[in-house]
Amino acid sequence: MTLCIHNAMLEGYASPVSLLVTDGLIERIDPRGARVDQAQCLDARGMTLLPGLVNAHTHAAMTLLRGAGDDMPLMTWLQEKIWPAEARLTEDDVYWGTRLACLEMIRSGTTAFHDGYWHFHAVARAVRDSGMKAAIGLPIVDALGADQGEACKNTAQSVMQEMDRYDPRWIRPVIYPHAIYSVSTETLRWCQRFAEIHDLTLHIHLSETRGEVEHCLKQHGMRPVFYLDRLGLLHQRTLLAHAVFLDDAELDLIAERKVTLVTNPTSNLKLACGGVFPYKRMAKRSIAMGMGTDGAASNNSLDMFQEMKLFSLMQKHTLGDPTALPAQVALQIAMGCHARILGHSGIIAPGEPADLILINTHTPEMTPPLNLHSNLVYAATGHVVDTTIIHGRIVMQNRIVADEDHIRDEVTKRALALTRSPAP
Ligand SMILES: [Zn+2]
Repeated sequence: MTLCIHNAMLEGYASPVSLLVTDGLIERIDPRGARVDQAQCLDARGMTLLPGLVNAHTHAAMTLLRGAGDDMPLMTWLQEKIWPAEARLTEDDVYWGTRLACLEMIRSGTTAFHDGYWHFHAVARAVRDSGMKAAIGLPIVDALGADQGEACKNTAQSVMQEMDRYDPRWIRPVIYPHAIYSVSTETLRWCQRFAEIHDLTLHIHLSETRGEVEHCLKQHGMRPVFYLDRLGLLHQRTLLAHAVFLDDAELDLIAERKVTLVTNPTSNLKLACGGVFPYKRMAKRSIAMGMGTDGAASNNSLDMFQEMKLFSLMQKHTLGDPTALPAQVALQIAMGCHARILGHSGIIAPGEPADLILINTHTPEMTPPLNLHSNLVYAATGHVVDTTIIHGRIVMQNRIVADEDHIRDEVTKRALALTRSPAP
């Protein structure tokens, strides 16, 4: 299958280029911008080509509960709103919630994401039907006891035996122990062994709150990063989400172990975690980093453009330095340039997967065209994305995505039923 995108503006080229995509990979870039015959053609006049964005930490299906009780204390929100609704959640609900998340991500220029939620196959089917790429978590929690842990492990094992249902270029499993406070030491060790046996990435929430760090110090006599390292969980395939409360010794070890940290600025602000991702101290140590929205229950948007802006502004504000995080760097992190998350390099070059977006530069937010990076990070939202291409397939064109109305109707119906109080 061949696709030719022509008349596209591309950074580094003075005039529009054409890009030839074959079997999902970028084959060549022609600086003359010529259209190649005998290929599916996409005229990108007035548009700028960018790598797709990578949402490196989310819980896609939670879009189903978007807005179900905001502005509440954490425990009240969980006990009164989220847990009762989640207790009634079916596999089909997770499928439709994930479809909605994929729809929102495609419409805001995200082409791949790291997910963590229940019902692996429902999530995977939704990802496949949406045409996105995802590293999908095999969730492991044993906070309710050994039985819960055993059930999670059994599910993870059976999913691994069924992975031939999915194309690994699009869907990959990831071991996903929820957090150090919800997974026991022994089960964390099991997760590491499982990751080694199956050659998996390990994705975990870490050091999101001060309380978590204090609890770890009290329980294990060391800070969370050293605790995970003692259990063998820190390595090149580890992804630590949130990573807000880290001291210098922890950052030194993270750099040494080549771990990737993922920032979730909106979620940190909304849940009032009281800390800020240590970008500058990480950059000094060349630590790989990604960016994520977290789930719609704590954001409530999956638009990575909003995340880039907030990330940059939070760093500038906290450090009292407007030069702390230039727009270009925020954009690169969102594109996956600072970490090969899901195998994405975040660059447009021959041989790379054609995970691409076209930005409509004829929009008020992108005008005047004096500074592309600044317009994208500080002025734009995901609405400037006109076309989304994933592995050479067009999944949105002229802002139209297949099945959009159906997905919205289905989710609305299910969300209303889930949040309705049960009959007395
Ligand atoms: Zn999360």
